[in-house]
Amino acid sequence: MGVSAIDDGTVDLPRLGTTEFERTAARSGILTTTVENVIQWGRYSSLWPVLFGLACCAIEMMATGASRYDLARFGMERFSASPRQADLMIVSGRVSQKMVPVLRQLYDQMPEPKWVISMGACASSGGMFNNYAIVQGVDKVVPVDVYIPGCPPRPESLLDALVKLQKKVAAEKPASLRG
Ligand code: SF4
Repeated sequence: MGVSAIDDGTVDLPRLGTTEFERTAARSGILTTTVENVIQWGRYSSLWPVLFGLACCAIEMMATGASRYDLARFGMERFSASPRQADLMIVSGRVSQKMVPVLRQLYDQMPEPKWVISMGACASSGGMFNNYAIVQGVDKVVPVDVYIPGCPPRPESLLDALVKLQKKVAAEKPASLRG
């Protein structure tokens, strides 16, 4: 019985069972490492998005969590209904001026460290809504780590952004906090 490409470690993605760190632990049963490495591994392997969507892009985000795209493969199936148990905000859709205080409050309630993905043209730049009612880029409200182009971006684009974010998180020093 053969093993899948994922199981034999040939896919170089920062996900459970595929990093050098995890392969060494699985093969030898013994691992010497630093606390920093363990913290980084835990962080990028279990990013938990806050349950939060703004417009049509949120439908694609929901599809990403469903069985066809299977967000759970990346340790992210747990969309948190409380921002206090989330460390990732996916801004999926246009941000109206009325939503700014709500969005900012949710972000402020998320514990550090936390990350933000701006999903789609509207969240990143206002998109086609160049008017007074829509914020012309969510980076005016919260710091953004990864931008996704498109209207709407497909689930593959969101998965690509999530993997890029995992690599970014893996490269960050655990002690670093952003205010
Ligand atoms: S980028 Fe397109 S799909 Fe996404 S919120 Fe804007 S109009 Fe809707």
